This record gives sequence, C-alpha cells and structure tokens, in this order.
Amino acid sequence: MGKIAVYPGSFDPITFGHIDIVGRALECFDGVIVAIATDSQKNTLFTVEERVEMARLGLREKPDVVVESFQGLLVDYVARTKATVILRGLRATSDFDYEFHMASTNKSLNENVETLFMMASKDFCFVSSRTIKEVASLNGSVKGLVPECVERKLKERFEAMRKKSQR
Ligand code: ADP
Repeated sequence: MGKIAVYPGSFDPITFGHIDIVGRALECFDGVIVAIATDSQKNTLFTVEERVEMARLGLREKPDVVVESFQGLLVDYVARTKATVILRGLRATSDFDYEFHMASTNKSLNENVETLFMMASKDFCFVSSRTIKEVASLNGSVKGLVPECVERKLKERFEAMRKKSQR
C-alpha cells in the first residue's frame, strides 16, 4: 500500500479551494481520502450524504481519491484506514490557532499520526465554505469558486428556504 493522506473537514459544501488542495496532495501522496465529518460541531447547511455526494462529483476526475464520511474521533478513523497523515489546508494566520490546537490534540491522542499543512493557492486563499454560503444565500454568483453541481445545489437550497420563509 502506498502513502495515503486523510483530508478531513465538514466540506459544507466542497469548494475549488478544497479541490485544489486534493490535486496538489496527489503530487505528494499515492492517494487521498476525503473524510467528511458526520459529527461536525458546525451547524451544517447540507446533510452528510449531500456533502459526500457533492464532493464525489466535484472530485470525480481525480484518480486515487476516495470520499467517505466518518463518525467519532478523527485519529481513530485515520488508524482504521491505515493512513498516518492528516492533511489540512491553511489560508491565513486566522486558521493557524485552531489548526495548531487540533494538530496538538490529535498528536496527543495518537502519536503515530502526523498532521501536515498545505498552504492555500493564491487563487483560492479567500474561498471558504462559509463565505460561499453567505454569497449564495444573498443570491450572489459563486461561479468559478465551486463545482457546477455545488452551484446548482446551493441555488436550490436557498430558493427553497426563501419560498418557505415567504409562506
Ligand atoms: P473544518 O470544517 O474542519 O474546519 P472545512 O471543511 O472548512 O474544515 O475545510 C477542510 C480543510 O480545508 C481545512 O483544513 C481548511 O482550512 C481547508 N480549506 C478550506 N478552504 C480552503 C481553501 N480555499 N484553500 C485551502 N484550504 C482550504
């Protein structure tokens, strides 16, 4: 078995920023597992099934990528996959504190698992799932920032929410 990295997150929804990280990680690893957290602390817009489906569609052209959901502790999931690397993306210094704490916590839970960080590309360093949702909720265009299937799904979701609130 080659060297596999687990790229965890809530991916609510997947963006071209995430996809860029996966593509670049494939230059360094033999495979990447995109691991979508079921027990996200965040109040997600999409269900875990929807997030997995969008990520699979968005990544379908990349070889050696598996998308699945996971429950429970990330380090336990990583150990089950037999991977030894957690991959995270870093956009700005504002990501650093949280990521530093998470990496330290995961290291103390399982010292065999290493967290590696990849800097966001300059084209996507301002892209986050949160701002994508904000823009889409206000009917703004997110073209070029997320795959088309995500664009469609955001449109549908916010239109349904607007209709519901008008009732
Ligand atoms: P979480 O909900 O676990 O914070 P996200 O689903 O928002 O994670 O993102 C998963 C990982 O991808 C995180 O490490 C995050 O910093 C990183 N990431 C998110 N957006 C980008 C981007 N535009 N460029 C690079 N990395 C990113």
